[in-house]
Amino acid sequence: MDLILRTARLTDGRLVDVHVTDGTIVRVADAGADGAPTGAADVVDCAGRVVIPGLIEAHLHVDKALLDRERPNPDGTLAGAIAVTGELKRGFTHDSVRDRARTLLDQAITNGTTLVRAHPDVDPIVGLTGVEVLLGLRDEYRDALDLQVVAFPQEGIAKAPGTLALLREALAAGADVIGGCTYNEATLAACHEHVETVLDLAEEFGVPADLHADFADDTSDPRFALAGHIADQVAARGLQDRVALGHVTSLASLPRASRTDLLLKLAAAGVAVVPLPATDLHLGGRSDDHDVRRGVVPVRELWAAGVTSAYSSNNVRNAFTPFGNADMLDIGLLLAQVGHLSGPDDLARVLEMATASAAGVVGVADTYGIRPGAAADLVVLSTTDPAGVLLDRPDRDLVLKRGRVVAETTRTTRLTRPTPGLTTGLTTGLTTRSKEPIHA
Ligand SMILES: [Zn+2]
Repeated sequence: MDLILRTARLTDGRLVDVHVTDGTIVRVADAGADGAPTGAADVVDCAGRVVIPGLIEAHLHVDKALLDRERPNPDGTLAGAIAVTGELKRGFTHDSVRDRARTLLDQAITNGTTLVRAHPDVDPIVGLTGVEVLLGLRDEYRDALDLQVVAFPQEGIAKAPGTLALLREALAAGADVIGGCTYNEATLAACHEHVETVLDLAEEFGVPADLHADFADDTSDPRFALAGHIADQVAARGLQDRVALGHVTSLASLPRASRTDLLLKLAAAGVAVVPLPATDLHLGGRSDDHDVRRGVVPVRELWAAGVTSAYSSNNVRNAFTPFGNADMLDIGLLLAQVGHLSGPDDLARVLEMATASAAGVVGVADTYGIRPGAAADLVVLSTTDPAGVLLDRPDRDLVLKRGRVVAETTRTTRLTRPTPGLTTGLTTGLTTRSKEPIHA
């Protein structure tokens, strides 16, 4: 099957025609360079609209999404969120998890996401329910979305006896990644053991590791200051570019010099960092009486230190984060606002954290991007201005997975204000902006 996206605007402003064969991009040429398309190819006329590669949710709790109406977080803290969700998990069934997961994944696809790394809980409360549902959905959604399944020990490993055997079972059943929750153990020694166990499993099963780490306002409790230790372990084992850390919020409370040293260490060890601003902001700073902390890893410093980074939604509408629409452009704007990031260069770099850089974090860089040889995972946006992608959060007009349209959005907006100088009433002043670019 052949497809051509004509007159697509890349984020560097260049207008190109993108040629796709059997789901793979085979040629990217200057717009019109090849003349009018001939043959049997389907043609999508992008008319100068911006086209980006499919957005990547590098860290999403699909199994726990959309629980906020069942029971909210009693005190707004991380401990409160874990406790409430632990109770709700007792009622999880395969059907209930699958129903909420499908709703969330469909929303993500509509919003231009073509890959999700999902972190279903694995513990004695839910057993493998989340993993089994997600592995089923990985097949069910194969043509619309790539789903990576992380075996995630939310309740700890030593702290929740039986979890280690379940993690092994999840990996044997085909989970793609081993997860971790390094702070949810009773002692620092148990936290170190947790890290060791997770990295052992990564080596034994030949999978990447993706750990929740250092999710606190400050570093006074050493269980929440493990990033340096993890970097040492990763370097010693030669697991460079195979390990990601989510949150790492306590890093923001370190003095700048210590922060810089730690970031350089993470960069040298090839450990990626994934800020999760919606959750980090909602659960952080809860004990502050004044000067309430942001509790989000300083993004500009990640860039300066050369740390591979992505950002993600983490949770959508549950006790951890009672907001969200699985929309990576929304979260990107939030990250920019909280990280003091602005202007075209910064915003382009934030968008990269949802696209090319995220592809590196989840291990798909080899087949990602708008270039020959990459999978044709593409999003046509309702703007012609690359600088407006995060600011305007344009419609995702078309979402393509391996060259096939998997979601389409059309919207009509009418401005009903009377046109100045005309006296013939409201209808004369109707303006239709359907599919018109926001910026000409
Ligand atoms: Zn998470």
